[in-house]
Amino acid sequence: MIEGKIRSLTEIQKEILELLSTGKIISINKYNLGAIGERSVAPNTTRFLTKNKFVTRKDKSKSITTKGNGYIISEKGKHILELCNSRKKRATPRILISEKKCRRCKNVMPISVFVDSSGYKNPRGRHCPQCHIDEEYEILERVMEGRDFCLYCGSKIIKVSDSLERPLTSWATIHLDHMDPISLGGKDNETNTVNCCSICNRKKGNKLFVEWLKCLDNECRTLSRNVYIQKHGREPEEFKPRSNKLVFTFSIDQQLINETINKLYKESNLINNLNIQFLSMQNCPNVLPMWESLQTALKELQYNQPIDQLDLNTLSEKQDKRAGFGSPTILVNGEDLFDLTFPETHNPSCRYYPNGLPNAKEIVTKLKTLIGLDLPNE
Ligand SMILES: [Zn+2]
Ligand SMILES: [Zn+2]
Repeated sequence: MIEGKIRSLTEIQKEILELLSTGKIISINKYNLGAIGERSVAPNTTRFLTKNKFVTRKDKSKSITTKGNGYIISEKGKHILELCNSRKKRATPRILISEKKCRRCKNVMPISVFVDSSGYKNPRGRHCPQCHIDEEYEILERVMEGRDFCLYCGSKIIKVSDSLERPLTSWATIHLDHMDPISLGGKDNETNTVNCCSICNRKKGNKLFVEWLKCLDNECRTLSRNVYIQKHGREPEEFKPRSNKLVFTFSIDQQLINETINKLYKESNLINNLNIQFLSMQNCPNVLPMWESLQTALKELQYNQPIDQLDLNTLSEKQDKRAGFGSPTILVNGEDLFDLTFPETHNPSCRYYPNGLPNAKEIVTKLKTLIGLDLPNE
């Protein structure tokens, strides 16, 4: 009897029943047309057979979400199938649906509204747009350690809801900050990092955390300090910055310095630019010792110019005021080596040195001072 009924179906209906009995699937496209593979099937039918149950599709804009086998069939075909129970218990072809459940809120929505994990529209995405934003927000709070604002300035981290073509959210404004700057020896780990807004991150730069705290307003400063202590287990002041400058230490070698100065002195040959005159007077007992001391000193200083020896009496006769310096006197470039100002008189006499007659060493020291080569204590 059933066979007879089936025989009364159209060729297409028979074909469809045949395909369905082998487990083929009827899919419904966006124009609401059903097809098995290339073969389109009964586009105008409003009745479906799903798992032993008929569903009447009144609103053709809605797809069938019922699980199980779904047949599209005409009024006539339906009647025949009702008489043919065995066909109701076949394997389970299913209708490819155009709606699905959001994994998060469990609401059924057209697949066209779904977004992927980046917030781009994508029918294969897991979440509806709102759930995507909610999930992003949870990620944000996790990343910001429970805050939805910048630790340093208190400004809210803004989600950017945008046109459908672009991601729904953007955390581009979040930057990872190293509380103790890496350049000063701060660690690159979770203990030392915190997310803040990009503006604060830029402002902070390489500042020490204690310096940075001074730039914050009171509320943020207190919070930031607490977060620092909580994460580091110590006060920010206890951080010992590693200097990025190299420090050189010298040990002063006095002997080396003296040798160097002496070498410079000899190379400069300044001593030989001096014009040295020796004033003396016959029968003066200090002339010879002073002359010998001067010779010793000039030898040590490698002075190799001729020395004018001037007689005070001769000078006095010429009314030369140099005669007033007394005997013995060393003139360097016309001035007294031992700082006597130019005398008022030109009467020759023996000279009295209050600190005693200068020896060779004292002469050397005076000459060196004159040419600007003071030696450190020898
Ligand atoms: Zn959802
Ligand atoms: Zn900030």
